[in-house]
Amino acid sequence: MTRIERLAALLESPLLVAGPPYVLGGQANVRYLTGLSSSNAAVLVEPGGTATLYTDFRYAARARDVDGVSFVETARTLLPAVGELLAGRRIAFEEAHLPYGGYRALVEAGVEPVPTTGLVESLRAVKDEAEIATMRRAGALSDEIFAALAEERFTGRTERELAWWIERSFREAGAEGVSFDTVVAAGATASSPHAVPGDRPIEAGVLVTIDAGCIVGGYSSDCTRTLAVGEVPDRLAELHALCLEAQLAGLAAVGPGVHGRDADAASRVPIEAAGLGWAYGHGLGHGVGLQIHEAPVLRPESTDVLEPGNVVSVEPGIYRPGDAGVRIEDLVLVTADGCERLTQFTKELITVT
Ligand code: ZN
Ligand code: ZN
Repeated sequence: MTRIERLAALLESPLLVAGPPYVLGGQANVRYLTGLSSSNAAVLVEPGGTATLYTDFRYAARARDVDGVSFVETARTLLPAVGELLAGRRIAFEEAHLPYGGYRALVEAGVEPVPTTGLVESLRAVKDEAEIATMRRAGALSDEIFAALAEERFTGRTERELAWWIERSFREAGAEGVSFDTVVAAGATASSPHAVPGDRPIEAGVLVTIDAGCIVGGYSSDCTRTLAVGEVPDRLAELHALCLEAQLAGLAAVGPGVHGRDADAASRVPIEAAGLGWAYGHGLGHGVGLQIHEAPVLRPESTDVLEPGNVVSVEPGIYRPGDAGVRIEDLVLVTADGCERLTQFTKELITVT
């Protein structure tokens, strides 16, 4: 079955699919269903399996080449134009991806909108063989760049310089782009999980957290390592060892049939035993694919159950304000009996100069 046919099998009403945007300027769900990368497109999927693709002049030539859908070129104001074409019909839409202005345009055109949640995302969460092969390539490229990074000098260079080195290296190695703004956070800066790289030169004796990902074939990688810059005090090496123990516990827990919240809980055990539960304030991980954050999620409130073909991050962190932060993250594929790491670069505490 095609992706559109699998989606159609889930539908009671025709579903108008638009959004969500992803980093290279296109919409992830439309791209997933049609292969078309466009920032202004929508697909109407009927319960019987027929589909219509709508986009404007800028994408029309490529949209005409999409197999298995009929194509209608619209004005640049996409949703008012689609609304006029669908006037009088009851049409489902994904509530997380339709801006209020688009909703109003559909209603004013005479469409009766019906909200739904996460239908396309539920399909995207289970990767097919081609997607898995692409994500393996993205993971391998991450490994290559982290290995080269470990040979770079850190002392005296700024977080921003090193972040740019990483982003440029990904592009030169063939990536289409980066999955998110690269994090390079040294010393106390790393005690904020999503720190922004700064302009102060890095000094020896600190930990530095690197969180970076690249895009290959539209799919993202996501990998974090924490490195030692020169000799570090024992308390920092111990913090790293504790985070690694939690990460290995998380990896051991990930497998088919496992609840996202249970994998998350397994990773908290060593950190809580050390009295640092308060310092691990985010979830264990998230799904990755066409978007850097997608289904399923591994965190305390997750209701997701893992299945083979899911690709998720496993990334516990420990953040001590004013002192240091450690995070270790792998991207993994859920398999029939556990999980396979798509990022393989060493997780031992390595020392950079
Ligand atoms: Zn990450
Ligand atoms: Zn992540």
